Formats: sequence, structure tokens, C-alpha cells
Amino acid sequence: MLGLMQDQPLLISSILAHAARHHPKGEIVSKTVEGDLHRTTYRDIEPRCRRAARMLQRLGVQPDDRVATLAWNSFRHLELYYGISGMGAICHTINPRLSPADLAYIINHAEDVVLFLDTTFAPLIAAVAKDVRTSLRAVVFMTERAHMPDIALPMGMDLLCYEDLMVAADEDYAWPSFDEHTAAALCYTSGTTGKPKGVLYSHRSTVLHAFASNMADVIGLRAADRVLPVVPMFHVNAWGTPYSAPMVGASLIMPGRHLDGASLTKLMNDERVTLSAGVPTVWLGLLNHLRASGERLHTVKSFVIGGSACPRLLFEAFDKEYGIRIDHAWGMSELSPLGTYNAPKPANADLAGEELMRLREKQGRSIFGVDMRIVDDEGRELPWDGTVSGHLQSRGLWVCNSYFGGTAGDALTPDGWFATGDVATIDADGYMEITDRSKDVIKSGGEWISSIQLENLAMSHPDVAEAAIIAARHEKWDERPLLIVVPREGRTIDKAALLSFYEGKVAKWWIPDDVVFVSELPHTATGKVQKLALRTEWANHLVAG
Ligand code: ADP
Repeated sequence: MLGLMQDQPLLISSILAHAARHHPKGEIVSKTVEGDLHRTTYRDIEPRCRRAARMLQRLGVQPDDRVATLAWNSFRHLELYYGISGMGAICHTINPRLSPADLAYIINHAEDVVLFLDTTFAPLIAAVAKDVRTSLRAVVFMTERAHMPDIALPMGMDLLCYEDLMVAADEDYAWPSFDEHTAAALCYTSGTTGKPKGVLYSHRSTVLHAFASNMADVIGLRAADRVLPVVPMFHVNAWGTPYSAPMVGASLIMPGRHLDGASLTKLMNDERVTLSAGVPTVWLGLLNHLRASGERLHTVKSFVIGGSACPRLLFEAFDKEYGIRIDHAWGMSELSPLGTYNAPKPANADLAGEELMRLREKQGRSIFGVDMRIVDDEGRELPWDGTVSGHLQSRGLWVCNSYFGGTAGDALTPDGWFATGDVATIDADGYMEITDRSKDVIKSGGEWISSIQLENLAMSHPDVAEAAIIAARHEKWDERPLLIVVPREGRTIDKAALLSFYEGKVAKWWIPDDVVFVSELPHTATGKVQKLALRTEWANHLVAG
């Protein structure tokens, strides 16, 4: 017997329709590429999104077509998110920090038909347009006529102006209803190993992920919140904030390309931001700015940090010096991205000091909707004792089962789990801790050493600005940890003293064999340390000498 409840597909357009109807005054404030502030509301942006859908129709976009965006966080990008998915097409967000070769590869692989982009990226598209296949019919700059860049495009590719097209379109568009499993958005992983792969989100997975993100023990947005996603809309849909914020009526403060410490501080204070989210590198930059300038953040209550392990320094500094709570989360493009979130359970609600810090350094526990397990090399499940580490696998309502162009299920193990490529422990309370990416783990004499744990310790040294650990080849042990360090400005660090900093904190055989000092570390398109580049440069450091 079937239940007798109303049946409505979970569609992304319904989030916006709800926000416009029930939270009409919720704001979207954007720092534009030109540098001024643009303000709108859910009431006013909803008809603009319908107008955008009409604009897409006039450009010949059909359901299932891929429409690309190469853009910062802004109201126009939000209009495209809803306009494209709302009409049944697929919003393909492209990371502008990718190499031109990867960018062309992605546009060709996705067979994008139209590309919308911020004027900042005019030189980028001018450089790659010749390598883009003919599927791309039009390039639309997300600006007004007065700011249109003048670039040359190959024959058959139109150069158009967003606001001109919007004026020419109309709002007499009604959001269509269709199967909730329809594809809505496409995001390529940054391809640190091999070619980028496209993760294809559905309307259903996106709406469910937004619901889950809004649970009290997850990001838990509320109508009164003013959210500033530092994480870009081109990186796993800004961790879903463009969906989770309107779902509850929270205001969105969009920083555009202005992501330095000074700009973020000003925008957060001017716009009374309550919550923000981003990768650790951004918060390290912000912290340095706050300390150097003496400025304060007057309204921010919490930051969500994920994307790479949050160093202890950030928890402590923001807690003690600025009264801002940091929540640690883990996820990946293939998980839309949220997989775990670190919130207390009754058993550990009263922890303090070192014990509390150790808990907060973990990446968190499963959110309803995504399950996880750790397995050994043979795929046998490992115990949850907080010590044994294994390959982390996930499955759930917003976990991918194949990559764009693949066949459903081909990215899964025979028993239906997705291998994340991370190595982790899970403790008896269900808190997961990432110890490494499987390709970064250091195998010393057959035993595993966690590069993340060693990096975190190095980063807690007062003279260290940034640190990375790589596996360096070793004649006797196969691999040994090598510490690569960027000293804080104006500081010099003694090698031996830095290595002795590890004593008593980790097993003796974990202590790195050597330290290399550099002026900066290479970062990936998503702001993570590029271990591959470091390995290419330093892997033979211990054998060469
Ligand atoms: P990529 O970095 O390849 O573009 P993602 O942005 O999807 O891909 O990153 C996902 C990966 O980032 C995870 O598999 C994990 O290794 C790492 N990661 C994410 N959050 C955390 C965290 N809180 N701590 C440690 N590592 C994390």
C-alpha cells in the first residue's frame, strides 16, 4: 500500500520560490568585479532568475544542455545557478584557477553550449577559445554594456552582454516540473592526479544536501543568519550555500574576487556577517590581517572550515583572540560536498583543554544521509577504535555513483561504496579523522606515517607560516617523511630545534628525516598544497645526498 501524501519532486527552483514567497526581504549583497556593492533580495532576484531562463531559451539552450559559468560569487552567478537548473539544463561551474589546458579540456568534455563569465576572465577565454570545440556557440560576459571587454573569438562563437540579453528577455516564465533525478549541476574535480572528472549532481541530491546542511548539528543556517561563502561557487557549489541559505531565508553576502584579509574584514563588518565558510588558507590570511591591523570582526559567530585539515592554530586563535567558533567539516566534490561535520555528542560535550582540541581536530561524524566505513587493502571493514587507519568509503543520498560520461555505478565497489581516496581512522563515538590522502601516505619500512598529523604539529610551531610533509625516497626504509616549511616573515628557524619540536608528540620513528625551507608552497586550484609538485621537486632529497 502506498502512503497517501502529496508527491512533489525535489526541484532546485522550489528553493528559490520558497525564499521569494516566505523570505522576500532576505538579501543578496554582492561585491562586484568593478568594486561596488550591489544589493537585491529574494523577492527581486526570483523574477530575474525566470528572466535568465528565458534568456537561455533565446540562446537556444535545451534541457540537459551544459551551460558553463566561469565566475566569482555574485548575484548574477546565483541567477544563473537557478535559471540554468530551473529550466532543466545543467549548470557547469568551471574553476578559473585551472590551467588553460585543463580549462579547454573540461569545456570540450562537457560539450558546453554557452559560457557565462566575469570580465576578469576575458584574457583566459581569449587564450583558450581557439582550443574549444564548436559546441560552444556563445560567450556571455556577466556585466553591463559599458564594461564589455573587447576580445576576438573564433568564427561561429558569439560575444554577448548579459544585461543586454536580460533586458531583451522577459519574466513570463513558469518553473517547469520534471523528474527530481534530472541532472542539475556539473563540477569537475581539480584533477591533481590525472584528468579532471565531472561530478553530475541531480536536483534531488542537491535539495537533500541543502536540507542536511541546515540541520542543527551541521552548518545549521537560520533565517537571521548573514552568510558569506568565501568558498567559491565554482568549487563544489560553494559547499551548497547558494541552496541552503535561501532554503531558510538566510542572507547571502557575496565577496566576488575580493578574498584578501582586509577586504573580507571590511565586508564582514559592513554587512554584519554571522557565518562564513572556506578552506584553511583563507582563514590563515584573514588571521594574519587581523593580527597585523588590530581590527576585529564584530558580528561573526562561526566559521566552517573544510577542504583540508584545519590546523590547531586556527581553532585556538579564533576562539581565544576573536571569540569565533570554528566548525571542522570534511567532504569532497563527489559528496556534494558534505560527508561529516564535527559537532559534540552528549558523551563529549564537557571536554576541555587538550582533549577537546583533539576532538575538534577530527573531521567529524556522519550526517544522516551519508554513511562511511574504513577498509583494509583487501576491502575488509576495519574497527572503529580511533587508531587503526584504512581506506575511507562513503555511500548515501548525495554521493556520486559515476562520473560524467560514465555508467551509473561504475565508480563504486562491488558492494556499492564510493572509495574517497582518503585514509582515516574512526573512533568508538563515530568521529572520523583523516590521516592522509592514499597517494600522500608515507610508507616507512612497511608502516604508515600520517603526513597530516606531522603537518599539523609543524604548523603549531610559532615560527612556521605553512608546512607540508612529503614521502621522500629512502634507501633503507623505502620512504621517509621530509618536512618542507615556509618560515613566518622575519623569522629564521633552526632545523634541529624544529625537529626536536616533534619529540614526545609523535612516535620517534615518525619524526621527519630532514627539513627544507622555502619561500612559498605551491597550491592547487582549490587552495590546497600541491603535494605532487613538491614530490617532483624533493622526492630524491634524502637519496641524492
Ligand atoms: P580536489 O581537492 O581534488 O579538487 P575536493 O575539493 O573534492 O577535490 O577535495 C576533497 C578532498 O579534500 C578530500 O578527499 C580530502 O582529502 C580533503 N579534505 C576535505 N576536507 C578535509 C578536512 N577537513 N581535513 C582534511 N582533508 C580534507
